[in-house]
Amino acid sequence: MLETNDSLNIIKVRNAAEPEFLQAVTEVAESVLPYIEKHPIYKNNKIFERIAEPERVIMFRVPWIDDKGEIQVNRGYRIQMNSAIGPYKGGLRFHPSVTLSVLKFLAFEQVFKNSLTGLPMGGGKGGSDFDPKGKSDNEVMRFCQSFMTELSRHIGANLDVPAGDIGVGKREIGYLFGQYKRLQNEFTGVLTGKSLEWGGSQIRPEATGYGLVYFVEEIFKTQGKQLLGKTVVISGSGNVAQFAAEKCIQQGAKVLTMSDSAGFIYDPEGIDLAKLAYIKNLKDNLRGRIKEYISEYPSAQYFDGEKPWGIKCDIALPNATQNELNGEDAKKLIANGCFCVAEGANMPCTPEAVHEFNSAKVFYAPGKAANAGGVAVSGLEMAQNSLRYNWTREKVDAKLKEIMHDIHSICVKYGTEEDGHVNYEKGANIGGFVKVADAMIAQGV
Ligand code: GLU
Repeated sequence: MLETNDSLNIIKVRNAAEPEFLQAVTEVAESVLPYIEKHPIYKNNKIFERIAEPERVIMFRVPWIDDKGEIQVNRGYRIQMNSAIGPYKGGLRFHPSVTLSVLKFLAFEQVFKNSLTGLPMGGGKGGSDFDPKGKSDNEVMRFCQSFMTELSRHIGANLDVPAGDIGVGKREIGYLFGQYKRLQNEFTGVLTGKSLEWGGSQIRPEATGYGLVYFVEEIFKTQGKQLLGKTVVISGSGNVAQFAAEKCIQQGAKVLTMSDSAGFIYDPEGIDLAKLAYIKNLKDNLRGRIKEYISEYPSAQYFDGEKPWGIKCDIALPNATQNELNGEDAKKLIANGCFCVAEGANMPCTPEAVHEFNSAKVFYAPGKAANAGGVAVSGLEMAQNSLRYNWTREKVDAKLKEIMHDIHSICVKYGTEEDGHVNYEKGANIGGFVKVADAMIAQGV
């Protein structure tokens, strides 16, 4: 192990000030380094050290003018992590918690996730510490235009294709696309998550949440189980959580909770499609808090400042943000009989939580496999843009299902332990790594 551990130490020293990035790298190292030990070609080519270093990092000033006429300054980023198997691809996050470390962890995860989709996409991520919450539409537009004024010179349909993430939805993608088109004077597939009328794909809004549930169904198939009648605890109430909930309800499962950064709602009768429509409208159009649910549905309870992991369930879907589920939360879920945890968010479970799930042989599906449906349909949006064509909803949904099925098979191939239990974390990490590593070797140093 000496040489591969040396690589990890070099990475740790080089990135000592970036905790989230090191957390993501260490998590991947735990499964990939033993594999590299057995396959010296990767060691001889120093692939692990190379894969942990971004190809390029762009940081820039984003000045904009607020509604009072005052100048505001934010910081913008784009991490171009790896282009071995295709153009850089990954979302933009606008949130006050955004730092270089957070975006590097996300870009690193994206490399493996995009590889798992089987589509030709490299990995990247970007964003800003800008907080869209409480800003007017005009402020968001001016911020997006300023952000894209700099970003536009670093991206392109064959170079780097951003999309949405936390704080970047269809409104922001519209403003960003408009500014790119103005500056470059061309209509290209430079962003995904576009509206249907101007180059977007069917199923893209639903893709992360639907794909997550398709992945859970694949796990269940291996166990002879089905979703019908199962109880589900969901965190988050944004795009991923909404469509994960919708698909769970359609498949006959009972969704008990949803949350936002202030607290969670628990509806013992289950959130049905009508109740979910209320939440969707509340969050997407009114930009309200989840707490308002209890004024509409008084039989539900609201837990201020708490997370939903103490509620008894069969399945937990953390769909909010990184490190939202810790070791203690994992113990509570396990004690209450939860047997499947699938990450709709990126790295929502802390390393301690993942350790608890794996030792209890809970089926733990990491985000890079379980939430890959979003970027997969982004890849299908790119394909449709290149073809100058739109596929039907049925066709895109069928392709999404097929991709999630294939990712599951890769996890089984690389993650099956001696006792037959599938370690999805190990399977996703090694399965995602091999393709990128082989491409890097083929393309030389
Ligand atoms: N932000 C999403 C993710 O974490 C989607 C990225 C994309 O569609 O490019 O995978």
